[in-house]
Amino acid sequence: IFILAIESSCDDTSAAVLQNDKVLSNVVANQSVHVAFGGVVPELASRAHQQNMIPVVDQALRKAGIQKSQLSAIAFTQGPGLMGSLLVGSSFAKSLAMALSIPLIAVHHMQGHILAHFIDEEGYDKPEFPFLALTISGGHTQIIKVTDFFTMEIIGETTDDAVGEAFDKSAKILGLPYPGGPLVDKHAQLGNPKAFSFTKPKVPGLDFSFSGLKTQILYFIQKKVKENPKFIEENLNDICASIQNAIIEIIMEKLKMAVTQTAIKQIAIGGGVSANSGIRKTIKEAENKYGWKTYIPKFEYTTDNAAMIGIVGYYKYLNKQFEELNVVSKPRIEI
Ligand code: ATP
Ligand code: FE
Repeated sequence: IFILAIESSCDDTSAAVLQNDKVLSNVVANQSVHVAFGGVVPELASRAHQQNMIPVVDQALRKAGIQKSQLSAIAFTQGPGLMGSLLVGSSFAKSLAMALSIPLIAVHHMQGHILAHFIDEEGYDKPEFPFLALTISGGHTQIIKVTDFFTMEIIGETTDDAVGEAFDKSAKILGLPYPGGPLVDKHAQLGNPKAFSFTKPKVPGLDFSFSGLKTQILYFIQKKVKENPKFIEENLNDICASIQNAIIEIIMEKLKMAVTQTAIKQIAIGGGVSANSGIRKTIKEAENKYGWKTYIPKFEYTTDNAAMIGIVGYYKYLNKQFEELNVVSKPRIEI
């Protein structure tokens, strides 16, 4: 089975070709137009998707060495995401599926982040059901109980900012360019995580909150810069390490609570922030520390990519879960 997958929910245009659960190609075009604005501008994102879509798909097919006529189905991201961006991907997927007379498969973006663990990759184990998925990305922070490929229950989530936003907004306060998450990570690797401490939010149960942390960081930096205008440049690594440490502590506290509540000790992380080196290390260490079995995605499947949409497409293909051509894109959609 050959699946062509299209992902265009936010600001990355991506296409992938899968042969069953193996990835033959996974092409991602990042959009640089947003950097000057310090965040994603939806209208510019749609336009860039339109420019990138055909070259990206073409490259994915060429890299895979597959002709369009060999494709079994087209999978695309139905939501959640930016409406204009989603529409570019879905229109393209529909047109191609119609032209080739092959099935169309709609995929939930967050299921993609979770099921990316089922891509066949050497050196990477696939989780066993049931497992807990920690999805940490630009728009989501959730703990999800995954019972099988399509039975997923959210047992905890953020009440305000997502963890990716916490990274990006902290980076912005420090004057780092958008998206700042990877830069905070880079500086954190050279700093002392205990240099500065921040108080953790008190949120009941398995839910998260990150907006208070962001405000705390803002006030802390403003105060320090008033005392010493060079505070940020002199302490950037330590500040980043301390912020990252605070975020990791918040995440681990809730994850431990989730394991106790569900008695499930299999943990899979997913989403853009699972690229973070500190989080990857802490989750890995939890295996020995708490007796968990943890799953950390291959780096290229952490931030948005079409391969993760393709693996969901493959399992939906096996279940014959196809869509009509009038299927609608959904900026908000339940998992
Ligand atoms: P969602 O998946 O919730 O719809 P999204 O698709 O916009 O959101 P992703 O591409 O999954 O988000 O993740 C992007 C986020 O991941 C950004 O906030 C980015 O800063 C963050 N991120 C990426 N790499 C790192 C890293 N190494 N450390 C911290 N954050 C990171
Ligand atoms: Fe994403």
